[in-house]
Amino acid sequence: MGQTDIEHLDVAAIREEYPILQREFGGEQLVYLDNAATTQTPDRVVDTIADYYRHTNANVHRGLHQLSQEASVAYEDAHDRVADFIGASGGREEIVFTKNTTESENLVAYAWGLNELGPEDEVVLTEMEHHASLVTWQQICKKTGATCRYIEVQDDGTLDMDHAHELIGDDTAMVSVVHVSNTLGTVNPVSELADIAHDHDAYIFVDGAQSVPNRPVDVEAIDADFLAFSGHKMAGPTGIGVLYGKKHILEEMEPYLFGGMMINKVTFEDSTWHELPWKFEAGTPVICQGIALAEACDYLDDIGMDAIRRHENELAQYAIEQLEGEGDIDILGPPAGVERGGLVSFNLNSVHAHDLSSILNDSAVAIRAGDHCTQPLHDKLGVPASARASFYVYNTKEEVDKLVEAIDDARQLFA
Ligand code: PLP
Repeated sequence: MGQTDIEHLDVAAIREEYPILQREFGGEQLVYLDNAATTQTPDRVVDTIADYYRHTNANVHRGLHQLSQEASVAYEDAHDRVADFIGASGGREEIVFTKNTTESENLVAYAWGLNELGPEDEVVLTEMEHHASLVTWQQICKKTGATCRYIEVQDDGTLDMDHAHELIGDDTAMVSVVHVSNTLGTVNPVSELADIAHDHDAYIFVDGAQSVPNRPVDVEAIDADFLAFSGHKMAGPTGIGVLYGKKHILEEMEPYLFGGMMINKVTFEDSTWHELPWKFEAGTPVICQGIALAEACDYLDDIGMDAIRRHENELAQYAIEQLEGEGDIDILGPPAGVERGGLVSFNLNSVHAHDLSSILNDSAVAIRAGDHCTQPLHDKLGVPASARASFYVYNTKEEVDKLVEAIDDARQLFA
């Protein structure tokens, strides 16, 4: 695959760190456009994982032996590195390592929501929430008697902020909002939503699964009370997610999981908890994954998060331009020219997204098809599914062209 003409990144050099991108299927070189689901992992992160298991592997916190001490220091430092990556000045105490964004959402829903919410409370979400947040808060509301309310999505794919002002009120206890929609690509005004929430003494939980990997995110500038994201969407490994929480809130919260590592003193009668963040990391934690995530943060910062944001937005805008050309493709989300995350969901007239995706696979073009874990949003849009192409640091305009060509093949097939 050739050089891109997007000037912000040296994509050819970046691609050298990803041998997987050289794979061929049926004689065609892979065009990987499923990055909103999972990004590929550069050599330096893979090397970090291999080095850890080759040279440092041990359990943390417990051991007095040298290996355990080295693993512990690397694991604890990884929390500081991640804190720095998202501008959390409280350092490791504000960073809990989990399994993924979904677990981070559940941690807050169970540890905070189950204890704090009651029948008089409301949780305000948006119609574009991922199931990770929507289903989780629905369940907590069922258990506590609280009510879920949804800020409407307008025809142009943006949130109706008048509706947000109407919905968020003195009964609101939590506003849980996706920063960048994994279906529409919309970039939501989370800072403004945080202000509205705080004016009513509510907390705001920001789902950063599609923002932290793709643009600079500063939790303190946004004034998020909580923020969640996943390592596997940001050049890191699977099996690691992050929950950021303001220290004073995490301090007041009860643990979600119980067992070893998260305790301070245990007697037959009762137990007390370890300090932050360890009281939320029960059992043997995600040691290697955490260390590798810190390396992924170094990697992304070396490239530059703002350059990544521009690169992805340019690829998305270019894709929209190309896809709209034939007039038989409906693009979901904001129109061309409006800044969006690096993804484009669409439907080709009368071709089911699953069929389209499988035809694209014949040309080694990997995209996603389905509801992208936003079923209620798809219902509202009146489509059962959509196809989604999503970009990362190593994608090029030539790959978008390949996508467009493969769609053209599908067009011919179904004509
Ligand atoms: N939130 C959003 C916006 C997402 O795009 C995703 C994954 O696609 C998630 C949450 C859930 O992430 P994970 O599967 O890593 O828990």
